[in-house]
Amino acid sequence: MSAVKRGRTAPKLNRVCLLCGIVQSLSQFRNEGCPNCESVLHFQDNDDVIRECASPTFEGLVAVRGSSESWVAKWLRIENFVPGFYAVRVSGKLPDDIKNDLYAQGIEYRPRDGSVQD
Ligand SMILES: [Zn+2]
Repeated sequence: MSAVKRGRTAPKLNRVCLLCGIVQSLSQFRNEGCPNCESVLHFQDNDDVIRECASPTFEGLVAVRGSSESWVAKWLRIENFVPGFYAVRVSGKLPDDIKNDLYAQGIEYRPRDGSVQD
């Protein structure tokens, strides 16, 4: 029996942006922010935002190559999302104040914890 190969998934993908569902490492959120939502959520160098808006609990990982035709693009309702890994289901919701902020900017937040169905 050969051991499962390791090291291929580094850096560790362990945080999900609650808004777009992209999965990144904690340090990616800290250093680069969310590639889709940084302009509205401001993860960069902001551990409070990372704690509130990036969940460590999720199920399923979908690789998105960047076609706006993909089901993920439709489901996420993001036209210009970046290629990457996205979570199918995420535990947790954005805090109300951030949600209100997004609404004020015309962004519709849809919780990805399974509570909203199309
Ligand atoms: Zn995001």
